[in-house]
Amino acid sequence: MQSGEDASGTWSMRHRLALGLALATLLPVLLFGAALLWSQWRDSRDTLMLRLDANARLNAGVIDDYLDAQQAGLDLLADQMAMDLSRAKPDLAKLLYLYPGMLRALHADADGNVTLVRDARGRALAPPDGGVGGEAWFRWVRAQSRIHVSGVHRQQAFGDEAVVTISAPVLRGNVFDGALQAAIPVERFTRLLSQSLARRDLQLLLLDTDNRVIHAAPALDFSVLDDAGPLGRQLRAQARPSDREVQVRRMSGLLHDGDEAYVAAVRLQHGWTLVLAAPGAILWAPLWPRLLLLLVLLGASTIGVGAVIWWQRRMLGDSLGYLLASLRGYALGGRIDASANARLPDELLPLAEGIGELGARMNAAFDELNKVLEEREQVIAARTDSLRRAVAELDRISRTDALTGCLNYRGFVEAGQRLWAEAHESGKPLSVLALDIDHFKRYNDLYGHAEGDSALRRFAGAVRSALLHSDDVLARPGGEEFTVLLPATTHAQAMHVAKRVCQRVRDADIAHAGSPKGRITVSVGVATLSAVDTELEDLLKRADAALYRAKDAGRDTFSD
Ligand code: GH3
Ligand code: MG
Ligand code: MG
Repeated sequence: MQSGEDASGTWSMRHRLALGLALATLLPVLLFGAALLWSQWRDSRDTLMLRLDANARLNAGVIDDYLDAQQAGLDLLADQMAMDLSRAKPDLAKLLYLYPGMLRALHADADGNVTLVRDARGRALAPPDGGVGGEAWFRWVRAQSRIHVSGVHRQQAFGDEAVVTISAPVLRGNVFDGALQAAIPVERFTRLLSQSLARRDLQLLLLDTDNRVIHAAPALDFSVLDDAGPLGRQLRAQARPSDREVQVRRMSGLLHDGDEAYVAAVRLQHGWTLVLAAPGAILWAPLWPRLLLLLVLLGASTIGVGAVIWWQRRMLGDSLGYLLASLRGYALGGRIDASANARLPDELLPLAEGIGELGARMNAAFDELNKVLEEREQVIAARTDSLRRAVAELDRISRTDALTGCLNYRGFVEAGQRLWAEAHESGKPLSVLALDIDHFKRYNDLYGHAEGDSALRRFAGAVRSALLHSDDVLARPGGEEFTVLLPATTHAQAMHVAKRVCQRVRDADIAHAGSPKGRITVSVGVATLSAVDTELEDLLKRADAALYRAKDAGRDTFSD
């Protein structure tokens, strides 16, 4: 899953932008900072190595020069003594005066008997018992006839101070004629050097040829006069002559605090080894301010990136929120004018315009659709209307007798029920006329069925003309029998109508050769709704009964 993408597969442009921005700004700062620190560290390390190399060789030269000077003085005195031993005393005093670094000087004759011992102030000291003939330095000088520099050691005569001794042969001609020896507290001299170096973070260690410590800076894990152990041997093996480039190495175990140190070792003229050590920690010292600066830069970049992210989030959120509100607020027929808002950034204006255009297109489509719908509605309304009329016509037809245009049986039953109910509701009278054409069977027989139908049509027209109220109902429930329903008509009025019916039928003058009257006549039975009628059928039966009475009365008449 990529950053900014959740489990549902959607992704946030804001998150990716933020991540990209953070990577694009913070990563270079980090990389640049790391490269800067690395190069600074390397520069400081190289500088430190150069300093170690230069200081080691320089200080080796200083110590060599110091010892050379002491040797030269002693050598000069030895030469003078070879020429005139009587001047030994003042010369020895002069030597000690001129070389304040010497603690004591003595002269021994060729057999090792000490003739003269002076301290640094020129005072005579008691000569050591038994002479010095048996001592190693005397034997060495006598054998080699050369200057001898001893290792560091403690001499009781000088308290506990560590000294080295320089010895020179007194040669008369080439014959050994005694020796001079001076004790030098080298540590006094090296301490000054060491303090000056320590102020520059360089720790001095001086080892003699016996691997003993001549001097050790306080920061080093060594004690003066002690054996320097394997570390000392390693350093001495590593030491180079001071006129060559010194190899700087990293070592641990030299410093008290166990820190690693950068170390340069130089071999002095007399075989001593000078070691300069710088704690590795000093490499970091100049880096801390830069690291702090880098952190400040990183912090400032983070704040800057955060501010930009926050700002773009606000701008994007506001702008998109506004567009969304415009869309949500859009109603068909309305307008989306998202681009009118000045807060939208240029990048979103095309989107806003696109949304506006979409709204306009939707409106146009909506109008078009409305037009089509309206047309459709009109067509549907027209069709519905004609259907309704057709249904009504069908309905009418279903209740109408096709031959005469009167109500058929079904229409008659419905109208009868309706008028029956209305009469009971309103309390108004309801009369019924039962009509039967006289001798119609004969008519059919005489003129044929088709003529009979035609006569029925004319008969119906004659009856209809006798009905003056629009509410009156003429029906042909079957055959040549007709029924007239007369709402709101009293019995007397109904009798009048019956009479008129008979007259109108007569007036129609439909020739009927089979009838005694020579034309079609009708017999009418009259009945008016009364308490005896429990249903419409009762009223109709009474009208039928009246009809038979009219028939019995000779036809072409009416009866009740
Ligand atoms: P009466 O005077 O006693 O009524 O004699 P009538 O011959 O009319 O006797 P009746 O009423 O019983 O005869 C009915 C005749 O009416 C029988 C039939 O031939 C005739 N008829 C019934 N319906 C129709 C019809 O729809 N068309 C024609 N043409 N004749 C019909
Ligand atoms: Mg009949
Ligand atoms: Mg009849």
